[in-house]
Amino acid sequence: MRYQSLTIDVSEWGNAQTSKSIWRLILSHLSKCLSERGFLSFEAEARRAMEQFLGFGADQFSLQEAPRAGGVKDDPMAFTTCFRLEQYLIFADVEMAPYLARRSEQAKPQQHIEIDLFCPDMDSVDSVREQIIEAIMKGFGLTGARSDIVGPKVVSPSRITIDLKGRLTFKEAVSPALYDKVRAKTDRSILLELKKRGSLLESDLKDFASEQVAVDKVRNTLDFFSGQDVQLVERLYAVVCKKTKEIMFLLPKKEEIAKAPGLLCANCGNSIGSETLMAYYKATPALQDLLDGSRWMPLLVKTAFERAGVPADDILTEAKHFEDEIDVLVAYGDRILVCELKDRPVSLNDAYKLSAKTSRLEAVVGRRSQRSATETRSSAARIGDYGLAGDWWSNALGSDQSPLKMVPILMSTQDIAPDAQSLMKDTRPDAKSLANCEEGLEGFCDQIINQINIARMTARFNVIISRSIGDSVTNLVARTVEEGFNLWLKANAAR
Ligand SMILES: [Zn+2]
Repeated sequence: MRYQSLTIDVSEWGNAQTSKSIWRLILSHLSKCLSERGFLSFEAEARRAMEQFLGFGADQFSLQEAPRAGGVKDDPMAFTTCFRLEQYLIFADVEMAPYLARRSEQAKPQQHIEIDLFCPDMDSVDSVREQIIEAIMKGFGLTGARSDIVGPKVVSPSRITIDLKGRLTFKEAVSPALYDKVRAKTDRSILLELKKRGSLLESDLKDFASEQVAVDKVRNTLDFFSGQDVQLVERLYAVVCKKTKEIMFLLPKKEEIAKAPGLLCANCGNSIGSETLMAYYKATPALQDLLDGSRWMPLLVKTAFERAGVPADDILTEAKHFEDEIDVLVAYGDRILVCELKDRPVSLNDAYKLSAKTSRLEAVVGRRSQRSATETRSSAARIGDYGLAGDWWSNALGSDQSPLKMVPILMSTQDIAPDAQSLMKDTRPDAKSLANCEEGLEGFCDQIINQINIARMTARFNVIISRSIGDSVTNLVARTVEEGFNLWLKANAAR
């Protein structure tokens, strides 16, 4: 499930209206505009179902306002609605900016239509988005420049990311070009060995050649990585004393030995020309940097999440939070994915550590988000409940109405111990783990993002449904159903 969003400023149309129920007019008008252009309306379909079931369906465009307890008139409209076009589910809600208007008295209230698009794939998203924009701009008679009116709803980096960036230090992931060079596992194991030893003489190569990896392969690999284009390994030439096997001189080039014909070995007194000359490999700082803490892994994971639809700016790599190091942090929707990556088998202890790290981060970030959620609710209550305005508030205030959910994720290029996996699941049911992650990484990340998007979409639907029983706002569907029932009752009473 993919997700995209946009907002369209309809203040030009809204400010010309005199009704206080401006959001109702906007949604009603939006339903008309989109229905005329072939979009299916959830409410209209609900009415149709009522018509089929009862023989009566209310016209959702002209519902009566119902008197409520205490004589307060209820607004018969939720501020969110749903449409479908082909495979796309389109959620729309109207957001007002009354609190900004209050802060600065001169500012006029602004009305925006927020659109959330969901689809299994986003292949034709451009065309659907254009159809929506055109329907709204034409239908609402908007004359302003499109670039002023249409914008993204979800901006990147998100407020959560900005907040995280303020609390943590982090490093940019290594460049994709660098990772490409160490993509092959065998190459990487050879480089890791070199990094471990720091340097290596040609005569030692046989030590870490194995049945699978011949000496020639090791030598060729090291030579390749010392090439001009790669420069992860420094290749020098060593003059080795035949007698003591000690390295006497290091030369940048083989030929340079000819430049010092008179030089004698300090150990045995022979001319260095008669000593052994062999290649000497040394790990460069770039190699240390790349392989220290497996820095290529965050890059791999970052790329996979980007392909799954997360904006690059919402992925932090190698984040540090006091003593805790977190390989990759992803802020998406109301989740923070806390990823631990290992280029070795993962043990129970690793799972404990990740679990503790996640809780410590949650204590800091979660506290803030809960406070904001309370502020959000009380602010919304102060100005009157604006339905989904909570979403708008949360965008403005930087947190979702629901507290942020932390999702610990363990990934390993090798095995993950079963007790580590069950510990993760026990402490947090959302936790995920992936062994041999180089194989199925993209599918794994895609699935995680997919699940978040489905939860997001379901939450939108739940708002539509739950608002129907909420006290402050009565949902259109419920009202449509109620009116249908009333008409049915009247018709039956008359008989
Ligand atoms: Zn010597």
